[in-house]
Amino acid sequence: LTKTRGAFEKVEDLVRRYKRIDDEFYDELEEILIGADVGVTTVMELVDDLRSEARKQKIENAHDLQPLLSEKLVGLLKNKEEDLSLNIEEDRMNVILFVGVNGVGKTTTIGKMAHMFKSQGKNVVMAAGDTFRAGAIEQLEVWGERVGVEVVKQQQGSDPAAVIYDGIQAARTKKADVLLCDTAGRLQNKVNLMEELAKIKRVISREIPGAPHETLLVLDATTGQNALSQAKAFSESADLSGLVLTKLDGTAKGGIVIAIRNELNVPVKYVGLGEKMDDLQPFDPEQFVHALFA
Ligand code: GDP
Repeated sequence: LTKTRGAFEKVEDLVRRYKRIDDEFYDELEEILIGADVGVTTVMELVDDLRSEARKQKIENAHDLQPLLSEKLVGLLKNKEEDLSLNIEEDRMNVILFVGVNGVGKTTTIGKMAHMFKSQGKNVVMAAGDTFRAGAIEQLEVWGERVGVEVVKQQQGSDPAAVIYDGIQAARTKKADVLLCDTAGRLQNKVNLMEELAKIKRVISREIPGAPHETLLVLDATTGQNALSQAKAFSESADLSGLVLTKLDGTAKGGIVIAIRNELNVPVKYVGLGEKMDDLQPFDPEQFVHALFA
């Protein structure tokens, strides 16, 4: 988040320079937020809201506006009382499906999450459902060895739904608590991809009513507005329950989190902050916004 913070240091500077709020102050604030990838639509709504709230509360001092801005940003990231944790229950096999385009960090996120669940004492199985991308299966196997979790696989090019089916059977045999399912992410053929995901979901829900318990879209924060359009494409057909935003360690544009949340209303549940197994964290809106302004 260091670099993101850099972008938002500009807000601090702005507040220091202006002291009293005027139109130019709001213009500059808009520019800063757009520069941090919060997204034009979201920024316009946010600043309008801030403006009228400031008027209502008779806030004239830029310094006094800052807490209100933080509050609005947190509000955009989370509905009141919303639970951002994963839908995991004891005494059942929990199935989590991961979707997203190639290169966003899907496989890495699955590996990290396997490690996380294992550290919680849970019995985990991973299914190598990305049978399309060269190296995806091997990469998941490397993670499996690293974190000590079984990987169910078939050959590259085989039917992903069949791999997931095998994964369910293996997870049953092992009485697993969590089954993590990788999927392919080629977006060149969007219709096929969405059909493939629908088929995988059918297989899962036929075997385990109510599953998948989570469908997480993985997005790369460094791709900025691109991540937003991917999120829109997947949310149209994949019935997402949450987002994982990766590579937040490498971007000055963490504001994309806010844009995605505001435009799609799918909660960000986890964030990736590096390539190692411990670099996955539950998303905490307050902490995130606080880090931006610290
Ligand atoms: P997939 O094609 O979506 O499965 O993507 P991969 O899991 O292969 O990840 C693509 C690249 O991004 C790899 O080099 C990962 O090590 C890297 N990566 C994944 N997550 C993160 C993250 O949170 N931070 C950073 N810096 N790199 C990441």
